[in-house]
Amino acid sequence: MLQYRDWYGTPYWSERTVDDQEYRIAYIIIHDTEGSRDAALAWWSNPNNPTQSSAHDLIDASGVIYHCVPYEKAAHHAGGGAWPGIPGGSAGGTSIINLVSIGIELEYPAAPASPPWPQAQIDAAVAHVRRLVQVYGIPRANVLRHVDVDPKNRSDPRNLPWDDFLNRVYRGMNDAATQAVRNAAWNAGGIPYNPEAAFPRYAREHDLGNPETPEFDFIVGGQQYRGQGFSKGIVYARVGDWENIREVSW
Ligand SMILES: [Zn+2]
Repeated sequence: MLQYRDWYGTPYWSERTVDDQEYRIAYIIIHDTEGSRDAALAWWSNPNNPTQSSAHDLIDASGVIYHCVPYEKAAHHAGGGAWPGIPGGSAGGTSIINLVSIGIELEYPAAPASPPWPQAQIDAAVAHVRRLVQVYGIPRANVLRHVDVDPKNRSDPRNLPWDDFLNRVYRGMNDAATQAVRNAAWNAGGIPYNPEAAFPRYAREHDLGNPETPEFDFIVGGQQYRGQGFSKGIVYARVGDWENIREVSW
């Protein structure tokens, strides 16, 4: 059972929409605090913090998750750095990296201290990140460490067994066995399953339940649409515009 606490004490965040451009959440970046939980929270709420830093969540050593900045806002957790697929530079007063990511800090002491990570903290972090990647449809390749995007200036999260961490986050989620089970179950229901299709992915991410119909085509105002019914709603999109899926009730 994850323990969440709301702590909205930081004034340091930005809007994700800048000059009519909406930056969508596509990455998660993991950090460590290099100091205590309380020192991090004090720093993020300090009016004299020159870097205006913050993060969406801080997971303390006991595994309690402090939710600090709403995900629809951009927290200020990664100022510099670069990554293939993320434009450099900044917009609206913060880095593009911040505009397209969720930043999660893990409480960990400052270098050179390098104790083993507490199991309760890692378990909470795995479960929390697993939930976020499902909600936002974030692939494994887009869950990064601060050191990955800014290796010149950062080394966090230090000492974290990274491959093990990612393996646990994505365990059983989209491997071949999982796909085979889904494929067999859909076919048993008489509905062809396409693992690359946008509708089943959307339905999973939005908890719409099981498929009730195959995909079907229809026309509105001369435009070609495609839809599919799931137990908790009907999803549809203009053919070819699979990024803009919409949802109506039955
Ligand atoms: Zn960091």
